[in-house]
Amino acid sequence: FAPWDDPGATPLVVYDRVTKRFGAETAVADLSLAVYEREFFALLGPSGCGKSTLMRMLAGFESPSEGRVLLAGEDLAGVPPHLRPVNMMFQSYALFPHMSVEKNIAFGLAMEGRPRDEIVARVGEALRMVKLDGLAARKPHQLSGGQRQRVALARALVKRPKVLLLDEPLGALDRKLREETQFELMALQERLGLTFIIVTHDQDEAMTMATRIAVMDKGRLAQIDTPRTIYEAPATRYVADFIGDINCVEGKVSGVDGIRVTVSTALGDMVVAETSEAVSVGQAVAVAWRPEKTRLLPAGEAGPQGVSMLAGTVADIGYLGDWSTYHVDMGGLRLKAAVANAVRRAEDAIAWGDKARLAVAPEALILLVR
Ligand code: ATP
Repeated sequence: FAPWDDPGATPLVVYDRVTKRFGAETAVADLSLAVYEREFFALLGPSGCGKSTLMRMLAGFESPSEGRVLLAGEDLAGVPPHLRPVNMMFQSYALFPHMSVEKNIAFGLAMEGRPRDEIVARVGEALRMVKLDGLAARKPHQLSGGQRQRVALARALVKRPKVLLLDEPLGALDRKLREETQFELMALQERLGLTFIIVTHDQDEAMTMATRIAVMDKGRLAQIDTPRTIYEAPATRYVADFIGDINCVEGKVSGVDGIRVTVSTALGDMVVAETSEAVSVGQAVAVAWRPEKTRLLPAGEAGPQGVSMLAGTVADIGYLGDWSTYHVDMGGLRLKAAVANAVRRAEDAIAWGDKARLAVAPEALILLVR
């Protein structure tokens, strides 16, 4: 039973109707959200949507123009950054180049005037947490990108924050190291039982690591939910389009039968099997579905019963190893089918320029009203 589904659970971090303006520009607009203890929470959105500003208000580097930011029930207004049980790890890592790994990690504790014994013990613990015990004496330039990232992490962890903020922490790493580090971060978060909030514009990163994702759009919250729900039941056209690939066809509602909705589109009628949206006949909506929930059939072949069949011309085929993608032109639209090469059958016979049909089951269709 997840804490966000439990009305009795107390959130650790709360943004309560927060607005942040910079002059005439509104970076965050009347935004409310709650993050629970031990969550790996992701703030996701394109550049300039307000992610960093949201995080900086929690760390104390900015204050809200309106609304409140609370931690464990306490309003943080007026609490300076160094007194907040929050630590931030920056994209650039900001390590001191002339100091050893050990000194870099110890720096914050030394500034606090902690006793030497305590510093040594806590730095040792932080080094072990990020598996850098053997490299304590090295300088940052003697480390790989991934190791530098871990030093920055250790430096944030050594302060034992309640919440660790990570601003694009993996931006500087190559793909393979990124993937490894993602899993390391998840394991570390689990082991330490900390709350992580990560800012990213990389949807794969958010999908892989987060318990929940807040998708942001121009300073507002577009949707907040688990990666699975955001992917399978996007709330708006914006979220559907931002997360993963999607086919989207505009239309008008032509029939409503309980949770079954028929939509007239330029490609013919499409029946959405199940929706929680309340719509009425004549309403402008969109029907969307994921490329991997689309089958591609040769023009002549009979399709399965009760499935939307859309006829078009194959404009492009991309072989990606595990998947092949097919772009199919129809009625001025270009739709996409993604077929796992391990299960590919009928699609093998289809070539560029062929007439073909896309088959989509009603259960795969998503009704979008916003
Ligand atoms: P990115 O992924 O590029 O870091 P972001 O989603 O984190 O973007 P923010 O950095 O929060 O976005 O910025 C949101 C908006 O607020 C942007 O339009 C930005 O130009 C503006 N902004 C942020 N900080 C300031 C500031 N100190 N002064 C003026 N405008 C600012």
